[in-house]
Amino acid sequence: MKKGTLFVVATPIGNMEDITFRAIRILKEVDLILCEDTRETSKLLKKFEISSHLISFNAATETKKLAYAIDEMVNGKNIALVSDAGTPTISDPGVRLVNLAHDNEILVSAIPGANAAVSALSICGLPTDSFVFEGFLPQKKGRQKKIKELVNEPRTIVLYESPFRIEKLLAELNEYMPKRIIAVAREITKIFEEVKRGIPSKLQQYFTSEKQKGEFVVVISPKDWL
Ligand code: SAM
Repeated sequence: MKKGTLFVVATPIGNMEDITFRAIRILKEVDLILCEDTRETSKLLKKFEISSHLISFNAATETKKLAYAIDEMVNGKNIALVSDAGTPTISDPGVRLVNLAHDNEILVSAIPGANAAVSALSICGLPTDSFVFEGFLPQKKGRQKKIKELVNEPRTIVLYESPFRIEKLLAELNEYMPKRIIAVAREITKIFEEVKRGIPSKLQQYFTSEKQKGEFVVVISPKDWL
C-alpha cells in the first residue's frame, strides 16, 4: 500500500489573507488535519470552507497521538499539520511527528507561508545575510546566562517574546547590550503593525503599558554593526 504524506502547512500570523492557494487546497484534500487548538483552526477552516476532519495535536496530546498519526499515514492517509499561527514546528509543536514520519519513510512536504521571525527580519532593516533564531528565551532558569552569551553573538539575533515579558526583555537588553540597535516588530500583518528601532533605553520609553499589547518579535543587531 502506498503511504500517505505529511503536509506541514503554514497558516497566517494575523491577517487571514496570508494563506496560499495551495495551503487551502491541501487542507481541503487531506484525510485529517492535526492542529494545536481546534477552536483557533476552526475559524480558519470556516473562512475558507474547509470541512476536513480536525483533531488537536499539541504539547499535551502529542505523545498519545503520535502513533495514531503515523499509523494512519503508513496506511495511506494524508495528514496536514498546522499550528495556531505561522509555520508549524517553528516554536510550535510537531517536530517529533515530522521526525517520526521520516523514520517511517513517510513523505514530508512543506506548504510554506507566513512566519513571524522571517517577516520581522524582512522589515527591520538589520543585516539578514547571517542571523540566529533563538525563539523564546527561557522564562526563568538560564535566562540571564543565555542573554550574556548573546552579548558576544556576531550575527543578527531574532527572538520571540510574549507581551507579559517584553518590558522585562527590554530592561535586560538595556543592562547587557545598552548600545545595540534593537528592532521590535509588533503585531505584524495586523491593524496595529509597527516596527520601532533604537537602543534599548529608547524602546523602553516607547513600549509603555499601552504599547505592550499584542505579539512581538525582537531583532538585535550584530555585535559590531555600524
Ligand atoms: N510558528 C509561528 C511562526 O511561524 O512564526 C510562531 C509561533 S510562537 C508560539 C508565537 C510567537 O511568534 C509570538 O509570541 C510572537 O513572538 C511571534 N509572533 C507570532 N505572530 C506574530 C505577529 N503577527 N507579530 C509579531 N510577532 C508574532
